[in-house]
Amino acid sequence: MEIFDKTMRPGTKPEDVLLSVEGLHKWFEIKRLGLFRVGDVKAVDGVDFQLARGESVTVVGESGCGKSTLARTILGLYGPTKGRIVFDGRVIDGTDKEALAWYRRHVGFVQQDPFGALPPFMTVQRILNEPLVINGVKDPEERQRRIRKALEDVRLMPVEDYLTKFPHQLSGGQQQRLVIARAIILEPKLIVADEPVSMLDASVRVEIMQLLGRLQQQYNISIIYITHDLSTVRYFSDRIFVMYGAKLIEKARTKELLKNPSHPYAQALMNAIPDPDPDNVDRFREVPGGEPPSLMNPPAGCRFHPRCPAAIKGVCDVQEPPHFERGEQHLVACWLYGEEHAEQTA
Ligand code: SF4
Repeated sequence: MEIFDKTMRPGTKPEDVLLSVEGLHKWFEIKRLGLFRVGDVKAVDGVDFQLARGESVTVVGESGCGKSTLARTILGLYGPTKGRIVFDGRVIDGTDKEALAWYRRHVGFVQQDPFGALPPFMTVQRILNEPLVINGVKDPEERQRRIRKALEDVRLMPVEDYLTKFPHQLSGGQQQRLVIARAIILEPKLIVADEPVSMLDASVRVEIMQLLGRLQQQYNISIIYITHDLSTVRYFSDRIFVMYGAKLIEKARTKELLKNPSHPYAQALMNAIPDPDPDNVDRFREVPGGEPPSLMNPPAGCRFHPRCPAAIKGVCDVQEPPHFERGEQHLVACWLYGEEHAEQTA
Protein backbone atom coordinates (compact mmCIF):
# COMPACT_ATOMS: atom_id res chain seq x y z
CA MET A 1 0.00 0.00 0.00
CA GLU A 2 1.21 3.45 -0.90
CA ILE A 3 1.35 6.13 1.79
CA PHE A 4 -0.31 9.22 0.35
CA ASP A 5 -1.34 11.09 3.51
CA LYS A 6 1.36 13.69 4.08
CA THR A 7 0.18 14.31 7.64
CA MET A 8 1.13 10.77 8.77
CA ARG A 9 4.03 10.52 11.22
CA PRO A 10 7.37 10.47 9.31
CA GLY A 11 8.72 6.94 9.00
CA THR A 12 5.26 5.33 8.87
CA LYS A 13 5.57 2.18 6.79
CA PRO A 14 2.82 0.75 4.57
CA GLU A 15 2.32 -2.15 7.02
CA ASP A 16 1.67 0.37 9.83
CA VAL A 17 -1.40 1.73 8.02
CA LEU A 18 -4.63 0.27 9.42
CA LEU A 19 -7.17 2.31 7.47
CA SER A 20 -6.93 4.03 4.12
CA VAL A 21 -9.85 6.23 3.05
CA GLU A 22 -9.42 7.06 -0.63
CA GLY A 23 -11.50 9.56 -2.62
CA LEU A 24 -14.53 8.80 -0.45
CA HIS A 25 -17.86 10.27 -1.56
CA LYS A 26 -21.30 9.70 -0.05
CA TRP A 27 -24.15 11.38 -1.87
CA PHE A 28 -27.84 10.95 -1.10
CA GLU A 29 -30.24 11.24 -4.01
CA ILE A 30 -33.17 13.64 -3.48
CA LYS A 31 -36.41 12.88 -5.34
CA ARG A 32 -39.49 15.06 -5.77
CA LEU A 33 -42.69 13.17 -4.87
CA GLY A 34 -40.44 10.17 -4.41
CA LEU A 35 -40.11 9.86 -8.21
CA PHE A 36 -38.11 12.60 -9.94
CA ARG A 37 -34.48 13.06 -9.06
CA VAL A 38 -33.86 16.72 -8.28
CA GLY A 39 -30.29 16.50 -7.07
CA ASP A 40 -27.95 15.02 -4.51
CA VAL A 41 -26.99 15.93 -0.97
CA LYS A 42 -23.22 15.59 -1.15
CA ALA A 43 -22.64 14.77 2.51
CA VAL A 44 -19.10 13.46 1.98
CA ASP A 45 -17.46 14.86 -1.11
CA GLY A 46 -13.94 13.59 -1.68
CA VAL A 47 -12.27 12.66 1.61
CA ASP A 48 -8.78 11.14 1.74
CA PHE A 49 -6.74 10.13 4.77
CA GLN A 50 -4.82 7.27 6.30
CA LEU A 51 -4.73 6.10 9.88
CA ALA A 52 -1.95 4.13 11.54
CA ARG A 53 -2.40 1.25 13.98
CA GLY A 54 -2.95 2.60 17.48
CA GLU A 55 -3.34 6.15 16.20
CA SER A 56 -6.23 8.47 16.98
CA VAL A 57 -7.61 11.29 14.88
CA THR A 58 -10.29 13.85 15.61
CA VAL A 59 -12.64 15.01 12.87
CA VAL A 60 -14.04 18.36 13.94
CA GLY A 61 -16.65 20.60 12.33
CA GLU A 62 -20.04 22.24 12.81
CA SER A 63 -23.20 20.17 12.67
CA GLY A 64 -24.26 19.57 9.07
CA CYS A 65 -20.69 19.48 7.71
CA GLY A 66 -20.94 15.74 6.92
CA LYS A 67 -18.83 14.34 9.75
CA SER A 68 -21.46 11.86 11.02
CA THR A 69 -22.08 10.62 7.46
CA LEU A 70 -18.32 10.20 7.12
CA ALA A 71 -18.35 8.12 10.34
CA ARG A 72 -21.21 5.93 9.11
CA THR A 73 -19.64 5.44 5.69
CA ILE A 74 -16.36 4.41 7.31
CA LEU A 75 -18.31 2.00 9.53
CA GLY A 76 -19.86 0.39 6.45
CA LEU A 77 -23.39 1.44 7.46
CA TYR A 78 -23.61 3.42 4.20
CA GLY A 79 -22.05 2.17 0.99
CA PRO A 80 -19.81 4.81 -0.61
CA THR A 81 -21.05 6.55 -3.78
CA LYS A 82 -17.44 6.72 -4.99
CA GLY A 83 -14.03 5.95 -3.58
CA ARG A 84 -12.97 3.12 -1.34
CA ILE A 85 -11.93 2.05 2.13
CA VAL A 86 -8.98 -0.28 2.63
CA PHE A 87 -8.74 -1.84 6.10
CA ASP A 88 -5.75 -3.93 7.12
CA GLY A 89 -5.00 -4.60 3.46
CA ARG A 90 -8.55 -5.59 2.41
CA VAL A 91 -10.79 -3.46 0.22
CA ILE A 92 -14.17 -2.86 1.87
CA ASP A 93 -16.63 -1.68 -0.75
CA GLY A 94 -19.85 -3.45 0.20
CA THR A 95 -19.79 -5.85 -2.76
CA ASP A 96 -17.97 -8.57 -0.80
CA LYS A 97 -20.33 -9.46 2.07
CA GLU A 98 -17.78 -11.71 3.78
CA ALA A 99 -15.20 -8.87 3.79
CA LEU A 100 -17.84 -6.48 5.18
CA ALA A 101 -18.76 -8.89 8.01
CA TRP A 102 -15.04 -9.38 8.82
CA TYR A 103 -14.55 -5.61 8.81
CA ARG A 104 -17.49 -5.00 11.17
CA ARG A 105 -16.01 -7.49 13.64
CA HIS A 106 -12.87 -5.38 13.83
CA VAL A 107 -14.52 -1.97 14.11
CA GLY A 108 -16.40 -0.77 17.20
CA PHE A 109 -18.94 2.04 17.20
CA VAL A 110 -19.67 4.43 20.06
CA GLN A 111 -22.75 6.52 19.33
CA GLN A 112 -23.78 9.93 20.55
CA ASP A 113 -26.92 8.84 22.42
CA PRO A 114 -26.07 5.91 24.69
CA PHE A 115 -29.65 5.26 25.78
CA GLY A 116 -30.88 5.13 22.18
CA ALA A 117 -27.99 2.81 21.29
CA LEU A 118 -28.89 0.20 23.93
CA PRO A 119 -31.80 -2.25 23.64
CA PRO A 120 -34.12 -1.23 26.52
CA PHE A 121 -35.41 -4.72 27.37
CA MET A 122 -32.05 -6.46 27.57
CA THR A 123 -29.87 -6.74 30.66
CA VAL A 124 -26.21 -5.74 30.63
CA GLN A 125 -25.33 -9.46 30.53
CA ARG A 126 -27.41 -10.04 27.38
CA ILE A 127 -26.28 -6.83 25.69
CA LEU A 128 -22.65 -7.93 25.99
CA ASN A 129 -23.33 -11.61 25.31
CA GLU A 130 -25.11 -11.00 22.01
CA PRO A 131 -22.14 -9.81 19.87
CA LEU A 132 -20.07 -12.72 21.16
CA VAL A 133 -22.74 -15.25 20.16
CA ILE A 134 -23.27 -13.60 16.76
CA ASN A 135 -19.54 -13.69 16.11
CA GLY A 136 -19.10 -17.34 16.95
CA VAL A 137 -17.66 -17.35 20.49
CA LYS A 138 -19.22 -20.70 21.38
CA ASP A 139 -17.74 -21.44 24.80
CA PRO A 140 -20.04 -19.96 27.53
CA GLU A 141 -17.14 -19.70 29.98
CA GLU A 142 -15.07 -17.75 27.46
CA ARG A 143 -18.04 -15.45 26.81
CA GLN A 144 -18.46 -14.86 30.54
CA ARG A 145 -14.76 -14.14 30.92
CA ARG A 146 -14.90 -11.57 28.14
CA ILE A 147 -18.07 -9.93 29.50
CA ARG A 148 -16.45 -9.51 32.93
CA LYS A 149 -13.23 -8.19 31.39
CA ALA A 150 -15.10 -5.63 29.24
CA LEU A 151 -17.05 -4.38 32.28
CA GLU A 152 -13.86 -4.11 34.32
CA ASP A 153 -12.13 -2.28 31.46
CA VAL A 154 -14.84 0.39 31.43
CA ARG A 155 -14.92 0.49 35.24
CA LEU A 156 -18.46 -0.81 35.73
CA MET A 157 -17.55 -2.58 38.95
CA PRO A 158 -18.24 -4.63 40.95
CA VAL A 159 -19.33 -6.51 37.84
CA GLU A 160 -22.07 -8.49 39.68
CA ASP A 161 -23.86 -5.22 40.48
CA TYR A 162 -24.30 -4.46 36.78
CA LEU A 163 -24.92 -7.78 35.00
CA THR A 164 -28.64 -7.94 35.79
CA LYS A 165 -29.37 -4.23 35.30
CA PHE A 166 -31.34 -2.77 32.39
CA PRO A 167 -30.12 0.37 30.55
CA HIS A 168 -32.73 2.62 32.23
CA GLN A 169 -31.30 1.64 35.63
CA LEU A 170 -27.92 3.16 34.69
CA SER A 171 -26.87 6.83 34.67
CA GLY A 172 -25.97 8.49 31.33
CA GLY A 173 -22.26 8.05 32.04
CA GLN A 174 -22.74 4.37 32.96
CA GLN A 175 -24.79 3.81 29.79
CA GLN A 176 -21.97 5.25 27.69
CA ARG A 177 -19.47 3.02 29.53
CA LEU A 178 -21.67 0.06 28.62
CA VAL A 179 -21.76 1.16 24.96
CA ILE A 180 -17.96 1.32 25.05
CA ALA A 181 -17.80 -2.14 26.69
CA ARG A 182 -19.94 -3.49 23.83
CA ALA A 183 -17.67 -1.73 21.31
CA ILE A 184 -14.50 -3.33 22.71
CA ILE A 185 -15.80 -6.80 23.55
CA LEU A 186 -14.79 -8.20 20.14
CA GLU A 187 -11.30 -6.69 20.56
CA PRO A 188 -11.57 -4.23 17.66
CA LYS A 189 -8.63 -2.64 15.89
CA LEU A 190 -10.58 0.58 15.31
CA ILE A 191 -13.26 2.47 17.24
CA VAL A 192 -15.35 5.17 15.60
CA ALA A 193 -16.74 7.45 18.33
CA ASP A 194 -19.38 9.88 17.02
CA GLU A 195 -19.86 12.74 19.52
CA PRO A 196 -19.58 10.25 22.42
CA VAL A 197 -19.85 12.87 25.18
CA SER A 198 -22.07 15.57 23.69
CA MET A 199 -25.25 14.25 25.40
CA LEU A 200 -23.60 13.70 28.79
CA ASP A 201 -23.33 15.99 31.80
CA ALA A 202 -20.18 18.08 31.85
CA SER A 203 -19.11 16.25 35.03
CA VAL A 204 -18.79 12.88 33.27
CA ARG A 205 -17.49 14.03 29.89
CA VAL A 206 -13.88 14.15 31.00
CA GLU A 207 -14.15 10.66 32.57
CA ILE A 208 -15.46 9.17 29.31
CA MET A 209 -12.78 10.91 27.22
CA GLN A 210 -10.08 9.70 29.60
CA LEU A 211 -11.54 6.18 29.47
CA LEU A 212 -11.32 6.14 25.65
CA GLY A 213 -7.74 7.42 25.85
CA ARG A 214 -6.78 4.71 28.35
CA LEU A 215 -8.35 1.92 26.27
CA GLN A 216 -6.56 3.19 23.18
CA GLN A 217 -3.20 3.00 24.98
CA GLN A 218 -3.93 -0.32 26.70
CA TYR A 219 -5.07 -2.19 23.58
CA ASN A 220 -3.36 -0.15 20.84
CA ILE A 221 -6.76 0.59 19.29
CA SER A 222 -7.03 3.24 16.59
CA ILE A 223 -9.76 5.80 17.21
CA ILE A 224 -11.65 8.16 14.92
CA TYR A 225 -13.25 10.70 17.21
CA ILE A 226 -15.98 12.87 15.69
CA THR A 227 -16.88 16.11 17.44
CA HIS A 228 -18.07 19.67 17.00
CA ASP A 229 -16.13 20.69 20.13
CA LEU A 230 -12.40 21.34 19.71
CA SER A 231 -11.98 21.77 23.48
CA THR A 232 -12.29 17.98 23.97
CA VAL A 233 -9.51 16.89 21.58
CA ARG A 234 -6.63 17.11 24.02
CA TYR A 235 -7.45 13.83 25.78
CA PHE A 236 -6.16 11.46 23.11
CA SER A 237 -5.90 12.86 19.63
CA ASP A 238 -2.71 12.47 17.55
CA ARG A 239 -4.04 14.44 14.59
CA ILE A 240 -6.95 16.76 13.86
CA PHE A 241 -8.88 16.94 10.60
CA VAL A 242 -11.12 19.98 10.20
CA MET A 243 -14.22 19.28 8.10
CA TYR A 244 -16.26 21.92 6.31
CA GLY A 245 -18.89 21.54 3.60
CA ALA A 246 -18.31 17.75 3.25
CA LYS A 247 -14.53 18.09 2.78
CA LEU A 248 -11.44 17.98 5.00
CA ILE A 249 -10.06 21.50 4.75
CA GLU A 250 -7.16 21.29 7.20
CA LYS A 251 -5.16 18.33 8.54
CA ALA A 252 -2.28 18.47 10.99
CA ARG A 253 -0.85 16.96 14.15
CA THR A 254 -2.91 18.02 17.17
CA LYS A 255 -0.31 20.26 18.84
CA GLU A 256 0.53 21.95 15.55
CA LEU A 257 -3.11 22.63 14.65
CA LEU A 258 -4.00 23.95 18.10
CA LYS A 259 -0.95 26.22 18.00
CA ASN A 260 -1.10 27.23 14.38
CA PRO A 261 -4.60 26.88 12.88
CA SER A 262 -4.28 28.21 9.35
CA HIS A 263 -7.55 27.90 7.46
CA PRO A 264 -9.75 30.90 8.32
CA TYR A 265 -12.53 28.47 9.33
CA ALA A 266 -10.20 26.51 11.63
CA GLN A 267 -9.08 29.82 13.15
CA ALA A 268 -12.73 30.76 13.78
CA LEU A 269 -13.38 27.35 15.38
CA MET A 270 -10.39 27.85 17.67
CA ASN A 271 -11.68 31.27 18.66
CA ALA A 272 -15.01 29.67 19.57
CA ILE A 273 -13.46 27.40 22.24
CA PRO A 274 -14.74 28.69 25.61
CA ASP A 275 -12.08 29.97 27.98
CA PRO A 276 -12.02 27.56 30.98
CA ASP A 277 -11.49 30.52 33.36
CA PRO A 278 -14.94 31.06 34.99
CA ASP A 279 -13.96 34.65 35.96
CA ASN A 280 -13.57 35.63 32.32
CA VAL A 281 -16.90 37.24 31.34
CA ASP A 282 -16.06 36.70 27.64
CA ARG A 283 -15.35 32.99 28.13
CA PHE A 284 -17.99 31.92 25.59
CA ARG A 285 -16.46 33.33 22.48
CA GLU A 286 -18.07 33.93 19.11
CA VAL A 287 -18.77 31.05 16.78
CA PRO A 288 -18.05 31.65 13.08
CA GLY A 289 -20.71 33.98 11.63
CA GLY A 290 -23.02 33.00 8.74
CA GLU A 291 -24.59 29.71 7.77
CA PRO A 292 -22.88 26.44 6.83
CA PRO A 293 -23.05 25.79 3.07
CA SER A 294 -25.86 23.82 1.45
CA LEU A 295 -24.61 20.33 0.70
CA MET A 296 -27.07 20.11 -2.21
CA ASN A 297 -25.92 23.30 -3.90
CA PRO A 298 -22.53 24.15 -2.39
CA PRO A 299 -20.97 27.48 -3.36
CA ALA A 300 -18.52 27.45 -6.27
CA GLY A 301 -14.82 27.68 -5.49
CA CYS A 302 -13.94 27.48 -1.80
CA ARG A 303 -17.05 26.42 0.11
CA PHE A 304 -16.15 28.81 2.94
CA HIS A 305 -15.90 31.90 0.72
CA PRO A 306 -19.35 33.40 1.57
CA ARG A 307 -18.31 33.50 5.26
CA CYS A 308 -14.61 34.13 4.87
CA PRO A 309 -13.21 37.54 5.90
CA ALA A 310 -10.06 36.89 3.83
CA ALA A 311 -11.74 35.72 0.60
CA ILE A 312 -9.95 36.80 -2.59
CA LYS A 313 -12.47 37.98 -5.17
CA GLY A 314 -12.19 36.26 -8.51
CA VAL A 315 -10.18 33.41 -6.98
CA CYS A 316 -11.89 31.95 -3.91
CA ASP A 317 -15.36 32.22 -5.43
CA VAL A 318 -14.25 30.55 -8.67
CA GLN A 319 -11.65 27.85 -8.05
CA GLU A 320 -11.64 25.19 -5.40
CA PRO A 321 -8.35 25.33 -3.45
CA PRO A 322 -6.15 22.21 -3.39
CA HIS A 323 -4.33 21.17 -0.20
CA PHE A 324 -1.18 23.28 0.25
CA GLU A 325 1.63 22.22 2.58
CA ARG A 326 1.96 24.52 5.54
CA GLY A 327 5.04 23.16 7.26
CA GLU A 328 5.63 19.54 8.25
CA GLN A 329 2.63 17.21 8.31
CA HIS A 330 0.26 20.14 7.93
CA LEU A 331 -2.07 20.60 4.94
CA VAL A 332 -4.50 23.44 4.32
CA ALA A 333 -7.07 23.82 1.53
CA CYS A 334 -6.94 27.59 1.22
CA TRP A 335 -5.65 29.86 -1.56
CA LEU A 336 -3.87 32.06 1.00
CA TYR A 337 -1.19 29.36 1.21
CA GLY A 338 -0.67 28.97 -2.53
CA GLU A 339 2.49 30.61 -3.90
CA GLU A 340 0.67 33.28 -5.90
CA HIS A 341 -1.19 34.60 -2.82
CA ALA A 342 1.48 33.97 -0.17
CA GLU A 343 2.14 37.69 0.26
CA GLN A 344 -1.38 38.07 1.70
CA THR A 345 -0.51 35.84 4.67
CA ALA A 346 2.97 37.36 5.24
FE1 SF4 B 1 -11.06 32.12 2.62
FE2 SF4 B 1 -10.26 31.92 0.09
FE3 SF4 B 1 -9.01 30.56 1.96
FE4 SF4 B 1 -11.46 29.88 1.23
S1 SF4 B 1 -9.62 29.81 -0.04
S2 SF4 B 1 -10.70 30.02 3.29
S3 SF4 B 1 -12.37 31.86 0.86
S4 SF4 B 1 -9.09 32.79 1.78
